[in-house]
Amino acid sequence: MTATEPVVRYETAGAVALVTMNRPRYGNAQNSAMTYALDEAFYRAAEDDEVRAIVLRGAGKHFSAGHDIGTPDRDTDTSFPRRAGLWWDHVGKPGAESRLARESEVYLGMCRRWRELPKPVIAQVHGACIAGGLMLAWVCDFIVAADDAFFADPVVRMGIPGVEYFAHPWVMGPRRAKEFLYLGERIDAQRALSWGMVNHVVPRADLEEYTLSTAQRIAAMPRLGLALTKKAVNQAEDLMGQAAGMDSVFGLHHLAHAHNAEVGADSLAGQDARSMRDARRDSEGGS
Ligand code: ZN
Repeated sequence: MTATEPVVRYETAGAVALVTMNRPRYGNAQNSAMTYALDEAFYRAAEDDEVRAIVLRGAGKHFSAGHDIGTPDRDTDTSFPRRAGLWWDHVGKPGAESRLARESEVYLGMCRRWRELPKPVIAQVHGACIAGGLMLAWVCDFIVAADDAFFADPVVRMGIPGVEYFAHPWVMGPRRAKEFLYLGERIDAQRALSWGMVNHVVPRADLEEYTLSTAQRIAAMPRLGLALTKKAVNQAEDLMGQAAGMDSVFGLHHLAHAHNAEVGADSLAGQDARSMRDARRDSEGGS
């Protein structure tokens, strides 16, 4: 990795755009720079008439370790030109206003913007897919996982009811969502498959080829037919309450951030990447 290497790589393979998160040193932890680079990549794929399908994947050992809560390039206090909505710049705003403006843009807003990209998007997941990483996989139309993939949303440990794009009950069912969130523990790819959260589990060595060949077969279908089909299924999901549910949980999420900031030192209940890792090791054992 050099300082000039992009945090998101964009390539094409025939009619398929390959969007690769590229902070392998940090498990592709998502800072705002990466968020806007992802948005740029998806925008580019949407605009290019030659691109018919998109694959989202991660460089290095993991898909995504989640939102950046501890790398040297954490950039929560940096302004970026907003793309997802019309919220004003969060920098310098007091209390809950700053968090609400920022997360409305870079988390819930961006995820919704990407979910509505009218071309098929496949998540190619290997290694860690944790917390904010789930949001990135869930906005894709479906998920192909390697046999080494694992999933967790441990933010209840911060007193927070799940990540900002609260799709849990819709992608895994309400009872599984509660257990998944209450424990915050990892589930492996096979369990995610049995819950219906991922579509396929393939050997790690076959993941890239399997996902690309699936994307290429999809890419041969009529463009408008794919766009209408995507819209049809997304609408059905929203009629099952996902969009309205997410809006209401976003309020609970921000109540939790505000509570943490009111009673403690910060909105994450004093947790960072290291303390979350240590707490998980204490409770689950292992590495
Ligand atoms: Zn948040």
